[in-house]
Parts: sequence; structure tokens; C-alpha cells
Amino acid sequence: MNDFTDLFVAGSAPAPRRTRQARVVWGARVVTLGGDAPVRVQSMTNTDTVDVIATAIQVKQLAQAGSELVRITVNTPQAAAAVPRIREQLDRMGVDVPLIGDFHYNGHRLLTEFPDCAQALSKYRINPGNVGKGDKKDKQFAQMIEVAARLGKCVRIGVNWGSLDQELLAGLMDANAGRAEPWDARQVMYAALVQSALGSAAYARELGLDPDQIVISCKVSGVQDLVAVYRALASHCDYALHLGLTEAGMGTKGTVASSVALALLLQQGIGDTIRVSLTPQPGEARTQEVIVALEVLQALGLRAFNPSVTACPGCGRTTSTVFQELAKRIDDHLRAMMPGWRERYPGVERLKIAVMGCIVNGPGESKHADIGISLPGTGEVPAAPVFIDGEKAMTLRGEHIAEEFHRLVEDYIERRFGAS
Ligand code: SF4
Repeated sequence: MNDFTDLFVAGSAPAPRRTRQARVVWGARVVTLGGDAPVRVQSMTNTDTVDVIATAIQVKQLAQAGSELVRITVNTPQAAAAVPRIREQLDRMGVDVPLIGDFHYNGHRLLTEFPDCAQALSKYRINPGNVGKGDKKDKQFAQMIEVAARLGKCVRIGVNWGSLDQELLAGLMDANAGRAEPWDARQVMYAALVQSALGSAAYARELGLDPDQIVISCKVSGVQDLVAVYRALASHCDYALHLGLTEAGMGTKGTVASSVALALLLQQGIGDTIRVSLTPQPGEARTQEVIVALEVLQALGLRAFNPSVTACPGCGRTTSTVFQELAKRIDDHLRAMMPGWRERYPGVERLKIAVMGCIVNGPGESKHADIGISLPGTGEVPAAPVFIDGEKAMTLRGEHIAEEFHRLVEDYIERRFGAS
């Protein structure tokens, strides 16, 4: 009988596309992008940069949530003046996450007139569509690149289809109209995005910027558009690529669209750094975009950040919410403790916990986890077997199953990861 083993290869993370490696530095902290580095997570503040304390606090929150680089808006002289003070405040708080400055329209002036700002930032994001018009464009772009080259800062040449260089697009549209078989307008737009990014990168190199200081992005808001553009980019350059669906939207829609887009490309080895551009729902923490980015990388098996909690969805066999509450409680507790646990318990991010609703899949899934519990479903004996390292270790009964399992998880972590 065919055992079908010839059909399968062991599941594994995709081989990354080999790119140049950029180094983003602040003090002793070096974050590498591309090359053999893991896919990095970025985020962006939504505070007024002029508000030094509020911005520093949000940067700290984003960094603690797992963001390895944080971008801040630098849009006015006041914001540029605030940047070194934000950096100092972060350093005082022991937060060494590198800061990226986001420049549009007046970046050439801000970077040259505020040298402390230029120095305090570890990377500059320059949008070629928002650098200037006509003959000012090259001159103003060159001013920013000159600062980056002199200070050894990385630059992300970040094209966005909402602010695509209109002169370039118009030129390509005219050229397309003259073709015997004109392309679809969307294809012309893709070409304009890629040409804007790679043309600007080539100009930056002419101006003296080291190619290893260049990161490229071409963000669009449609999943299939993003895939098409990044596949073209990846096949035409070896720069590290920053990946993200721009203006992804809110809540479930934004999370799903971003996750799908990132997954499709990361699975092909395309993407060296990611951002999830979620619109926060009223009252939602800005850190949600970081949490989604981490989950995408962890779900793809590219990186591990937090212990994973496997929980079944529940069904007609679970008429109480006990297992949902326990799964949530464990998940929340692990997330809250991870900033401290990463150092105290090396390797704890690979822990697997199962919280299951009944005996149908409960014992089996629990055995696959490091520690798992199978709660009693409706009509089942009120007993919850606990499995540790694949073996049934005990059965919990009574009113305090949740508390007892919680303690068992903590003991397991201490025993397995504390000693190392
Ligand atoms: S494990 Fe049990 S409760 Fe959970 S979904 Fe499966 S059958 Fe339903």
C-alpha cells in the first residue's frame, strides 16, 4: 500500500532571498536588515513628534512589544528639534531601539538645518514622490543623500502609490500609449513604482551612498498589487526590501489583508523587514500593529517571539466558556511576562501550550504541546487531564482547574527554562 511519503517534504520555513545587508545602528545596538538576518519588525508612532515625552513613551511601548525599529514623523522644524530630545529621553529610559525619521517635502531642509536631528536618527525614510518638483527634485534628494552618506545612515527609498512621482508616471503613460499593444494602466503603474524606487537608488549610489545603506519599499494598498510589485522588485535588485501593505485599514480587515499580503511574499523569500500599517480602532493600543507583525512571522515559522497557545475553537460539546477563559488568561499572562522572561528564561518563546475544550481532540493536541490540558466538555466527567512533554502527568478536578493549570505552566517554565 502506498504510504504517500513521496508526496511530502518536511514543513520548513522558506529559504530567504539573498540580499545585501543594511546595518541600522544606535550606540551599541545594531539591527541588520537583509542578508542572513531574520525578517525584522518595524512600527511607526502616531504621536505628535513635538511632544517629546508622549513620543518617547510610545516608542518604548512599541519596542517592548517587539518592534526592532521605530519610525517617527519629522515634518516641521519643531519636530526636527524634538528628535534629539526624544532620543535622549529614550536613552535615559534604557531604550536603545533605533529611530527612523520619516521625511516628506522638506526633508532636505530639516536634515541640513538640524544636524542633531540627522545624527539622532539611525535611518531616513525618503519618499521620491515627495522630494520636490521639476529641477528641485534631484537637488533636494541629493541634499538628503549627502547627509546620509556623510553620517553613515541607512536610507529607505520608500515609494508609495498614493504619492507616486507624477512626472514619472505621466512619462510612462505617454510611452505606453505609443506601444503597438499598450499595457494595462495597472501594469504601467507597477512599472512606475519600481522605476521610481530603483532609479532613485541608482541616483543615490551615484551621489556616493553605499549600496549596503539602501533599503527599498514600494507600498500599495491592494494585496495582489503588492505581490506583483514586490516580485518585480525582488527580481530586479538585491537591496534589502521593506514590506508592507499601506493603508491596510482597521480591525479584522486590516489584519487579514496585511497578513495575507505579507505571507504570500515572505513565503517566497521576499521581504527583509515588515510593517503592518493598521489603523487603530478607537481606544486600541498602537502596539497592535507590532503584535500582528510578530504573529505573522511566527505563524510562518520564520521567527519565534512568544510561547504559542493552541486552543480549539469550541463547538456544541463546550457549552461553558471555561476553556476560552483559560486560553485567554494563559495567553495574556504569557504576553505580559515575556519582556522579562526573554532574558530570564532563554528559549521560552518556543514553548507550546494547548488548551482544549473536550476529549475529541484534547488529549491528542495536548500531547503534541509541551504542556496541555483537555477540559471537560458538556456531559463529560468533570476531570481535566494534563499532559506534560507528551505524557499524561495528572488530572485536575474541581472548582480551581484554571488556577492550578496556570501554576503548572509557571512551574514548567521555571523547571525547563530557568536552569538554562
Ligand atoms: S476539541 Fe472538542 S470542544 Fe474543541 S472543537 Fe474539537 S470537538 Fe469541539
